[in-house]
Amino acid sequence: MNRPLKNYDIAELKRLDLAHHLPAQADYKLLEDIGGSRIITRAEGSTIYDGEGHSLLDGMAGLWCVNVGYGRDELARAAYEQMLELPYYNTFFKTVTPPPVRLATKIAQKMSVGNPDLQHVFFNSSGSEANDTVLRLVRYYWQLKGEPERNIIISRKNAYHGSTVAGMSLGGMSFMHAQGGPMVPGIEHVRQPYAFNEGFGQDPAAFAQVCVDDIEARILAVGPDKVAAFIGEPVQGAGGVIIPPEGYWPKVEALCRKYGILLICDEVICGFGRLGQWFGHQHYGIKPDVIAMAKGLSSGYLPISAVGVSSKIVEVLKTGGDFVHGYTYSGHPAAAAVALANIEILEREGLVERTRNDTGPYLAKALTRLNDHPLVGEARSLGLIGAVEIVSEKGTNHRFGGKEGTAGPLVRDLCIKNGLMVRGIRDSIVMCPPLIITHEEIDRIVDVIEQSLNEAEPKLRAL
Ligand code: PMP
Repeated sequence: MNRPLKNYDIAELKRLDLAHHLPAQADYKLLEDIGGSRIITRAEGSTIYDGEGHSLLDGMAGLWCVNVGYGRDELARAAYEQMLELPYYNTFFKTVTPPPVRLATKIAQKMSVGNPDLQHVFFNSSGSEANDTVLRLVRYYWQLKGEPERNIIISRKNAYHGSTVAGMSLGGMSFMHAQGGPMVPGIEHVRQPYAFNEGFGQDPAAFAQVCVDDIEARILAVGPDKVAAFIGEPVQGAGGVIIPPEGYWPKVEALCRKYGILLICDEVICGFGRLGQWFGHQHYGIKPDVIAMAKGLSSGYLPISAVGVSSKIVEVLKTGGDFVHGYTYSGHPAAAAVALANIEILEREGLVERTRNDTGPYLAKALTRLNDHPLVGEARSLGLIGAVEIVSEKGTNHRFGGKEGTAGPLVRDLCIKNGLMVRGIRDSIVMCPPLIITHEEIDRIVDVIEQSLNEAEPKLRAL
């Protein structure tokens, strides 16, 4: 779509941003020192543009979310038409509006593939809120079942489940726990299935078993009858695109069944095609009782998230009267209308299948080229999510400067300078492009990473 370009006074916007706006997950002093944030003014397809004339290939799909790409008139129209008809009404007063009903039905259809019990949907506005819902829901479920002492949730170190108090407590990022605690009690963090860092050189099946044994040991340590649920992202995203070894998830599922523990999948990144299936757990062939989803649900066009809940749990909820939980914007009609239109695009354009059969394998193959680079310890991907691990010594997992976090930010900044938006997580460059990405754009992602690694190498070797 050709729209007239707006003229922004970028210097003035930067000044006002520094004066009044506090961006998310930011170092406010550093932003001041660098003269303020980059101001993104428009986007089309898989490309974003800033107000200073730069265009960047969006290797992160916004923040792991713009699955159908930018510039979709259809989604803008869905919001516009719904807002004119009914911009808002709540779901508190024994009331509902048409879009969330239709969206819940559509989500149920997608998530019940191979898991027919997953039929119900609770709406929220963000991934963090979805996980707040999850936490209250599973603990309440066990209370209603007459086992209130079953309230411990097992999560993984370095997991990301959001930034609200419950989200960050469920998450396993120690640097988040360190700020603004105390955390929500009753959450235990076990080993993550991060083979490159924690199981280097080990047989994948043996490493999977080590991780699963750690979960079982924790279950036994806290008492199996005290554990409410296990929560995990099918592939850990913000933790550094950690793709678990083959066999990990079926073993985790078996462990949950053995001890009668609920299995929760946080599908906030992996849902809606990212791993080449509608949901990431479907790739691993497991049957969670609860799933959280957001991001790709609306491709980020409007904020909306959902919690998928099994009929087994809903039958128990029915014995408890009001579930006194919910948000003003639960089931927001405009957000739900946009999500529905977004799912229609994913279906019509076959973007999930394309990720599975075409672009996902193409990215995996393109990344293998980087395996020959002297700075690359591992290049891995699944579907359209991937990571490149930067090491100081080929064939090892040793890091520059003898500690994590030196090479990642440097190479990330070079990638951005070279026209590719990616994220640096510790010493890996992670990517998660829109599902509309083309082969040519995938080649460009890999080329820019390679070029940036080449530019970084002398600086890193000089450390
Ligand atoms: N869960 C996962 C797996 C996520 O990746 C994120 C966001 N990156 C969240 C939860 C939190 O979502 P939000 O930022 O929308 O609150």
